[in-house]
Amino acid sequence: MSCYVMGIDIGSTTSKGVVLKDGSEIVSTYLIHAGTGTKGPATVKEELLKSSGLKEDDIAYTVVTGYGRKTYAEADAQLSELSCHAKGAHYLFPEARTVIDIGGQDAKVMKLDGEGRMTAFLMNDKCAAGTGRFLEVMAAILQLDVSQLEEEAAKAGEALKISSTCTVFAESEVISQLSNGADIPALVKGICKSVASRVGALAKRIGIEEKVCMSGGVANNGGVRDALAEELGKEIGYSPLAQLTGALGAAIYAYERATKERKDG
Ligand code: ADP
Repeated sequence: MSCYVMGIDIGSTTSKGVVLKDGSEIVSTYLIHAGTGTKGPATVKEELLKSSGLKEDDIAYTVVTGYGRKTYAEADAQLSELSCHAKGAHYLFPEARTVIDIGGQDAKVMKLDGEGRMTAFLMNDKCAAGTGRFLEVMAAILQLDVSQLEEEAAKAGEALKISSTCTVFAESEVISQLSNGADIPALVKGICKSVASRVGALAKRIGIEEKVCMSGGVANNGGVRDALAEELGKEIGYSPLAQLTGALGAAIYAYERATKERKDG
C-alpha cells in the first residue's frame, strides 16, 4: 500500500506544502502568499488534499516547519526550518554542500555533509537588507511586482550601485536616483547586487564548499542568482521548487517517521 505524507512550511510571508508518495514521489505542491497568522496554512492543506485527490485519513503523517510552525496544531510533529531546508535541499541537489536560503524576512547559509545533514549555519534575521523584504520594498517604489525584477535586471548593462546597506536608507537612495531619471533596469540590477553582496558576505564567513544551491522565494529571481554567482565566483544550483525546499524536507521527515512508526508499531 502506498504511503502518503504531507510537509507544510509556514513562513513569514508565504505558506507552502508538499504531498509525497512513498518518500520520494512529489504528488502535489501548493504555495500561497499568506504566511503565519493568516488562513494560508489551512488553505495549503485543503488545496493539497484537493489536488492530490486524497482524504485527510489517507495522510499517514504530517510535519510542519517554518517560522509559524508553533501556531499549527494539526501536524503530527514540528521540526526546525534548518533541518527541513537541509533535507529538502539534499533531495533537490544531492551534491549540494552549501545552501543559501533567502526568505521573506531572513537569510541563512547552511553547510551540509554528503548525507544532507547540516553541519554548520549562519543566519541574518536582524535586518531586512539581504532578504525578500528588501526586494519587496524596492519593487514597491518602482511600482513593480517582485516577480518582474528578474526581467528588468536582465535588460540592464552596468548595474547602478546602491551604497546604503540599510533598507530605509537604500529606499531613500533609490527614490533619489529615480527622481534623477535613473535607468530602471540598471537600478534593479543594483538592487539585486545589493542583496547578493549582503548574503554573499554571510556565505563567505561560513566558508563556501561546492556545490552551492539556493532555496527560498528569492531564489526565483534570476537577477539575484546571477549577482550571487558573480559575488561568490561559483555556479549556483537552482530548482523551480526552490521555494518549496522546506516543505519538501518536512515531507521527507514525515515519511521517515511514518515508516518508522509502522515498523515499530
Ligand atoms: P518565508 O518562508 O519567509 O515566507 P519564502 O522562502 O517563502 O519566505 O520567500 C518569500 C519571499 O520571496 C518574499 O519576500 C517574496 O517577495 C520573495 N519572492 C518570491 N518570488 C520572488 C521572485 N520571483 N523574485 C523575487 N522575490 C521573490
